[in-house]
Amino acid sequence: MPRALIIGGGVAGPATALFLQRDGWDVEVFESRPEPDAFGGLFLNVATNGLAVLETLGVRERLLSDAHHCPYMQMCGAKGQLLATVPNGPAGEPERGSAVVRREWLNLVLREAVDAAQVPNRWGARLERIEESPTSVTAHFSDGTSAVGDVLIGCDGVGSVTRRWIDPQAPEPRYAGLLSVGGFARVEGLEPTPDTQTMVFGERGFFGYLVREDSTVYWFANPTHDEVDREALRTWPRDELLAELREAHRNDPYPVPQILDAVVGTVGAYGVYELTHVASWHRGRVVALGDAVHATSPSAGQGASLALEDAATLAQCLRSGSFEEAFARYQQRRQPRAEKVVAYAASINRNKRVPRSRLTRALRDAMLPLFLRGAMTDTRNNDLYNYVVADEPARHSHR
Ligand SMILES: Cc1cc2nc3c(=O)[nH]c(=O)nc-3n(C[C@H](O)[C@H](O)[C@H](O)COP(=O)(O)OP(=O)(O)OC[C@H]3O[C@@H](n4cnc5c(N)ncnc54)[C@H](O)[C@@H]3O)c2cc1C
Repeated sequence: MPRALIIGGGVAGPATALFLQRDGWDVEVFESRPEPDAFGGLFLNVATNGLAVLETLGVRERLLSDAHHCPYMQMCGAKGQLLATVPNGPAGEPERGSAVVRREWLNLVLREAVDAAQVPNRWGARLERIEESPTSVTAHFSDGTSAVGDVLIGCDGVGSVTRRWIDPQAPEPRYAGLLSVGGFARVEGLEPTPDTQTMVFGERGFFGYLVREDSTVYWFANPTHDEVDREALRTWPRDELLAELREAHRNDPYPVPQILDAVVGTVGAYGVYELTHVASWHRGRVVALGDAVHATSPSAGQGASLALEDAATLAQCLRSGSFEEAFARYQQRRQPRAEKVVAYAASINRNKRVPRSRLTRALRDAMLPLFLRGAMTDTRNNDLYNYVVADEPARHSHR
């Protein structure tokens, strides 16, 4: 039985482990975080195409049992005027719309499935170095331990060690000029927004929110900001962060200022990064998936779904041929789609960044309704949402 070392227990890692285990692999997941709930994260959009992969894994319904079904996005201007309603899923098929979930819930649902499949999952295992021989690959971890496998699959996210091992010249993720700050709130009297997320192109920043049936508000803001390193973001005092956001959004329409006045619990802050083109996604017995090779900014709501598609595709490719042939086919199948989505998300970011001069801001605000016109019936994104990775049965094992 071939053995796969899977580095990273975010989205791509557990999904890859589940797919490969079904195909008869011996798999183990190694995650750098010390314990399961240490990375609560905020919430994220799991798009129709990502939900399709979760269905193949048998966990879609479990995920949707605590999700905000969200087939529509309402785009509003700085005065609260409705600019457009945009489908968050295939146009004209709201029942197949995407879902917004808490990240910790998505992580938990995947983790439950990994545990149920009895896949070993090691926490506190930070990959530091990879060593390859003609017959095996060894992962060395920062605690001095190591593991040996036939292949190493890097699902280690945007700061990937695996990517750098595959190609030391690979580009670093590029900062998109925006932060993503968000959390939860409870606003007295605010109506639930079933089926919908609202996005506001505010006077001095972009803001998004949805209100669940139990009145919990999920909110995020994308302030245009110079780059801030990860540690500084992590330790940014919550009150200071909120004070900046309140100031930036104080003239924005109801309920944006009210939400910022009613924040409960943790406020998370992240830099928005993009990785547009990584020439090689594999080398020898090592391959990388998800954000490690095509980090897409959150703006398209597709990063997690692409990571899930990668996992399903890699498992399929590994059903025949040598490892290297399988890795090459996987990259060939995935790269054009992933890069298209990264570019699409980057184009959305251009509209989110607040123009520096009043004139360009006025121009942007005048252009937005034109840009968004017809969006509701626009089927341009249908190929994004309708993508399905067919779940073929294993033909034969190789090696
Ligand atoms: C604020 C924010 C909002 C987002 N919103 C959305 C959204 O709405 N919809 C969407 O689809 N996507 C969204 N994304 C993007 C999405 O989170 C990623 O695209 C997705 O998580 C990628 O999955 P992954 O498995 O490749 O990486 P990750 O989920 O980042 O998982 C990587 C894992 O590897 C671990 N790791 C890292 N280095 C090592 C190491 N050296 N050794 C061992 N383990 C390691 C990490 O701890 C982590 O658990 C958002 C991202 C951010 C930051």
